[in-house]
Amino acid sequence: MENTLSVIPLGGVEEIGLNMTVFEYGNDIIIVDAGLMFPEEEMLGVDFVIPDFSYILDNREKVRGIVLTHGHEDHIGALHFLLKEIDAPVYGTPLTLGLVRSKLREHHLEDRELIPVKPRDVINLGVFSIEFIRVTHSIVDGVGLGIQTPVGLVVHTGDFKLDPTPVDGQLMDFHKFAEYGERGTLLFLSDSTNAEKGGFTFSEKEVRRVFEDIFAHAPGRIIIATFASNIHRIQQVIDVAIMYGRKVIMCGKSIVANAQIALDLGYLNLPQDTWLRLDNLKDLKDNEVVVITTGSQGEPMSVLSRIATGEHKIIEIKEGDTVILSARMIPGNERSIGRIINHLFRRGADVIYEKVSEVHVSGHASKEELKLMLNLVRPKYFMPIHGEYRHLVYHSKLAKKLDIPKENIFILQNGDVLDITQEGASRNGRINSGRIFVDGKGVGDVEDMVLRDRRRLAHDGIVLILLAIEKLTGNIVSGPDIISRGFVFEDASQEIINDVRELVINTMEELDKEILTDASLIQAKLRSVLKKYLMNTMGRRPMIMPIIIEV
Ligand SMILES: [Zn+2]
Ligand SMILES: [Zn+2]
Repeated sequence: MENTLSVIPLGGVEEIGLNMTVFEYGNDIIIVDAGLMFPEEEMLGVDFVIPDFSYILDNREKVRGIVLTHGHEDHIGALHFLLKEIDAPVYGTPLTLGLVRSKLREHHLEDRELIPVKPRDVINLGVFSIEFIRVTHSIVDGVGLGIQTPVGLVVHTGDFKLDPTPVDGQLMDFHKFAEYGERGTLLFLSDSTNAEKGGFTFSEKEVRRVFEDIFAHAPGRIIIATFASNIHRIQQVIDVAIMYGRKVIMCGKSIVANAQIALDLGYLNLPQDTWLRLDNLKDLKDNEVVVITTGSQGEPMSVLSRIATGEHKIIEIKEGDTVILSARMIPGNERSIGRIINHLFRRGADVIYEKVSEVHVSGHASKEELKLMLNLVRPKYFMPIHGEYRHLVYHSKLAKKLDIPKENIFILQNGDVLDITQEGASRNGRINSGRIFVDGKGVGDVEDMVLRDRRRLAHDGIVLILLAIEKLTGNIVSGPDIISRGFVFEDASQEIINDVRELVINTMEELDKEILTDASLIQAKLRSVLKKYLMNTMGRRPMIMPIIIEV
């Protein structure tokens, strides 16, 4: 529409994750963030979820650029899927682009244009001019955005909290947000993740005190699981490790890759003689070691999960080990995390996690911080983003308390269009939107990675494995029954199904007793074995769904 700014969330307003917003005016579109979401437990057989961005593809000639707020997966994780389809310049701070670059390399997209920016830089994309504003968050180098549009100023916080003592000393640019308030902000989009929580979110530095206490008393090895992107947290572990004369070993592909990127770009301070390789573990005394790894969400194939179930090649848990889960328990993952904790305790480790100690602080602003931001920016229109519906409702309640009229607050759903003109703002229909399920992180075939489940079902079909096991022993009491659809030609199918059945039985026989009592670990194991097998023997990647009934 003429003289109209359209703001369209493609993801991130019905969930934590999938952050992606389109700003459109006339012939110009800019995209802010392109994030993924990790699947909920009931999304069997899905590795992750990305927003349906077909609207962008339908309007590809209008796209002037993609602007990234920070390097978390829920903001950059869908980018390579988008860049496979369109070629648009990508703007972000150096660490954000560092993380993006390594991912693009993996997907043979290294020719895409990545343009580094600093806080307070201004770029022009079509009618839009965008200023980057430093924010504090649980990853370094995060920014919010001040977007000048023909109808007025838009401020987008990205993810933030007001951390007065950030680990890297890079303070939130309050002055800039206040300046936008002074200049008169038309629309404000702000992070709602913690809008239910009262008070202020603790500074990341608070975690350090807790770490110091744990390190002072831990008799043996310390193993810390956190998110690979949480460079602040990793830095604090390193600092405290040095203080207590421990060496740091990073364990897991993503954490090593991220640490290396951060180190190369100068965002991580890690002396060479402190960072040792996993092979060095055997040469060190137990009280000289800190292992940093991933798997804090109980992901069945992660390093921590393998350590917890005795499946890791090198690290075997023993009496005296201290394991710290330094991350939030993401809702929906509690059960898997609980399982991991039980396994670790059973093997003799002491386990410390969010519920029992302050080993984690959030990266998102609580109520008082959100109010402060609303007061600084003083927008005419307000659109809470980044949250499930209830988070957005809580955030809008705060805005109402601060005298933003109800009719000026817009809680949108993914795909809703908010149109703003000189005359006013209103919701104006919906565009095509939704979620796309992606399966296929494993097995290393990169070309085939983008597969909508619909497309996958049509091409490669589905294999169901039905299996009933005895809860306490893991013994098979019925099955495995193999059901396939759209997967093999009828005449060849019986043979393949027999092979699959045999493979399932053999795999089950080889599994550790402890894994056999954990249906989600069995599922993960069967999926990965069958995936490899069907890929190697037939070159097919059907959706594999092990359904395990415990009796
Ligand atoms: Zn974030
Ligand atoms: Zn986020």
